[in-house]
Amino acid sequence: MIADKLMQVEARLQQASQTSHRSRDEIALLAVSKTQPAERLRAAFDAGQHRFGENYLQEALDKQRALADLAIEWHFIGPIQSNKTRPLAESFQWIHSVDRLKIARRLSEQRPAEQPPINICLQVNIDAEPSKAGVDVAALPELAHAVAALPNLRLRGLMAIPAPRTDPTAQRQAFARVRALLEQLNREGLALDTLSMGMSGDLAAAVAEGATIVRVGTDIFGARAQSTMNGGQTGNS
Ligand SMILES: *Cc1c(COP(=O)(O)O)cnc(C)c1O
Repeated sequence: MIADKLMQVEARLQQASQTSHRSRDEIALLAVSKTQPAERLRAAFDAGQHRFGENYLQEALDKQRALADLAIEWHFIGPIQSNKTRPLAESFQWIHSVDRLKIARRLSEQRPAEQPPINICLQVNIDAEPSKAGVDVAALPELAHAVAALPNLRLRGLMAIPAPRTDPTAQRQAFARVRALLEQLNREGLALDTLSMGMSGDLAAAVAEGATIVRVGTDIFGARAQSTMNGGQTGNS
C-alpha cells in the first residue's frame, strides 16, 4: 500500500521533472510522516524511502527511538519553540522551519561538536499570511546573512508553504517568488542550493519553479486523521 503510493509519487516527480527539463536527481522526496505511527515509516523505509519530515518534536523523538535501527535522514519541518532547540540540534540532520535569529543561534550553540553542521532552511512567509510561521520577505536578507555566519549551521536555502491555490499557474507564481528570493541572496554572496517547496497538492508547480526538496505527506501515507495535535499549528498542519 505505502509502496504503491510511493511509486505513484515517484511517477509524478519523474513526469514533473521531465516537463520542466530538469533531472529527477536534483529533487529529493521528503516523506512527511507527522501523525503516522513508526510502523508506517518502517514500511516506507523498506520500500526505499529514507528521508522523513516531522512537525512535532516529542512525536519525532519517539519515532527516532523506535526506528533507531534504520539509517533514516531526519528533517524537522514544524514550529520551533525556543526552549526546545537542544533536542532538535542533537537529533536532526535538517531543519526547514527556522524563522528567527534567536532560534538559529541556539541551534548553532547546541549542535554537538562531533556532528557535522545542521542543514538549515529559512521558512519564508511568502504570502504574508498573518497566521503563518516564517520570516517576512522584507526581513529575510538580514536574517539569512546572520544565519549564514553561524558556525555550526549550514544555511542551505529557503522553505515556503504558499497560501493554498488550485490553479497551477497561480501555484507557480508563488513558487517563482520564492525562487527569486533565493537567487537574490545568492547574488548577495550566499551559496544556497535548496528550495524546500511543494506538497501533495502542488508538487508539479514547485518542481517547475526549481524545488529541490518536495515535502509530501498525504499522497504517501493517505489523509491524516483530524488530530488535536494540529490545534493551533495553522501554519504547518
Ligand atoms: C504536513 C506538511 C506537509 C505535507 O503536506 P501534504 O499536503 O500532506 O503533502 C508539507 N510540509 C509541511 C511543512 C507540512 O506541515
